[in-house]
Amino acid sequence: MILLDRVTKVYGKEANPALNRVSLHIGPKEFVILVGTSGAGKSTLLKLLTREEKPTSGKIVVGGIDYDTLKDKHIPLLRRKIGTVFQDFKLLPNRTVYENIAFAMEIVGMSNHEINNTVPKVIDLVGLEGKAKKFPHQLSGGEKQRVAIARAVARQPKILIADEPTGNLDPKHSWDIVRLLEKINRYGTTVLLTTHNQEIVNKLQRRVITIDHGKLVEDQAVGSYRQGVAAVETLDPDRGQIKV
Ligand code: ADP
Repeated sequence: MILLDRVTKVYGKEANPALNRVSLHIGPKEFVILVGTSGAGKSTLLKLLTREEKPTSGKIVVGGIDYDTLKDKHIPLLRRKIGTVFQDFKLLPNRTVYENIAFAMEIVGMSNHEINNTVPKVIDLVGLEGKAKKFPHQLSGGEKQRVAIARAVARQPKILIADEPTGNLDPKHSWDIVRLLEKINRYGTTVLLTTHNQEIVNKLQRRVITIDHGKLVEDQAVGSYRQGVAAVETLDPDRGQIKV
């Protein structure tokens, strides 16, 4: 689903690459957590996947699309394959929940029929029944993030990139969002999640890829990531149900 082969990214005339010969493979329907300190290169990796940035060298293939041969006119197609969700939600403030989702579908060329059919379904999927006519300022942070997720999945992407989606949320809402991402993954979407939240990393028991100074330094299989267990036990809202 996602293939990187010795991908390097150097911004401008910077001496150090933001990403340095990173190779990885993420299969269909995987749920992968990407971790690394600030400046490690996580956002750069995600921007290369969404084609906001181009690699300096190396090969990227996503959902069968080889980026070497990708033309600008095919970028909307790529953006349909890859949904994105960010820490700051990026909702349109003057549009309702319904309109935020519908607009995202419109701009990638989906038909009115498809839009009218899909929007109510994704609103239900993310648990926002009855909120279709609300504006972003009338919603809590957790609800805003649900709208952002609904908007991303409405395009039926193969991959969902969630870049620090819980960064602005309290622990309870953070877990609601993580559980929602798991649900979307169970429906068959590949999920790539970046987080600084050690508790989420520990409790999810998923494959964890660690980036440090632009290099992929660890790629740990499902359930083998053990760092920061103490933090889990002090922060977890569902204490007592931890399986670490
Ligand atoms: P992370 O998301 O892990 O915090 P980034 O991918 O944002 O890391 O950054 C990796 C490195 O690339 C950092 O040293 C950062 O300063 C640098 N960098 C990121 N974006 C740019 C840019 N547009 N121009 C120059 N340097 C950049």
